[in-house]
Amino acid sequence: MDGFKRKWVVAIDLGGTTTKLAFFNHSGKMIKKWKISTDKRNAGQYILDNIVTSIDKQLQQLKVDKEILTGIGMGAPGPVHLEQGLLYNAINLGWEKNYPLKKLLEKKMNLPVAVENDANCAALGEFWKGIGQHSKDLIFVTLGTGVGGGIISNGKLVRGVHGAGGEIGHITVIPKNGYRCNCGKIGCLETVASAKGIQRITKQLLASKKEKSMLSDKYFTVKDVFNAAKQCDPTASEVVDTFSFYLGLTLANIGNIFNPEIIILGGGIAKAGDFLVKKVQPYFENYAFPTVRDSTVISLTDLGNDAGVFGACRLILNQMMKSKKM
Ligand SMILES: [Zn+2]
Repeated sequence: MDGFKRKWVVAIDLGGTTTKLAFFNHSGKMIKKWKISTDKRNAGQYILDNIVTSIDKQLQQLKVDKEILTGIGMGAPGPVHLEQGLLYNAINLGWEKNYPLKKLLEKKMNLPVAVENDANCAALGEFWKGIGQHSKDLIFVTLGTGVGGGIISNGKLVRGVHGAGGEIGHITVIPKNGYRCNCGKIGCLETVASAKGIQRITKQLLASKKEKSMLSDKYFTVKDVFNAAKQCDPTASEVVDTFSFYLGLTLANIGNIFNPEIIILGGGIAKAGDFLVKKVQPYFENYAFPTVRDSTVISLTDLGNDAGVFGACRLILNQMMKSKKM
């Protein structure tokens, strides 16, 4: 068993823009992390080869033989068939439907591969090494380019029959006259609580208001919107309030189903910090069932962008333990 501590796994968090990678030893200690951009050209045909090349390059730089690697865990953006490692649908990557991700990567790397939905992976990471590590019941919500979710109930990931359990970003919050979501549906949480959603709400408010805002007449990011709201800019405050209402309402409704110990907010938007929690909390409290309101805590991630690779590491270690390869 001791010898295995010197063995490593590769953990990959595959995203539509960036792919994060890390080496971990079998005790779960991160050895090295890095990232590459995701090349989606030509129906995503370069994505896996780029990953393989970058792993080889890192091993060379560290002067470590490829033999040290025993497996690969990966979080991918879309619902996943766990056993077969099929990605049912990955609109963001350009891949065909039912993409045999596990099989292809196993062939290229000659190593066992485990694949899971990216937000589920991040939830697993928080459960294993993050702020949720003492909670058997937790919900992880990633607020970034899109809105993703992962639910752990009684120590187990909620996956559902087709791997699409916990798709919090696609809960309908505006049933009438909402915007079309990337998933094809209308009025999903993602259309109002993602970076793109926040930017759209801001632009609409700026166009409809006569009063001057700190955000007027310039290109603005989501960070600018939150910073302006922190300084009590009226337009920015209204945007953050709209965002917080939809998020707080959704979290209360999911909270009523799972009564988690902790709801963890991650992703780029969570960098707004405690201010974000303070804005979402009152809406959550307003709409949650009293016992849920009093026993479920909303908190920020403490793993930041690394939650996904921690979860991917746990995923492959779990698979190897099950097949007794460690
Ligand atoms: Zn959607």
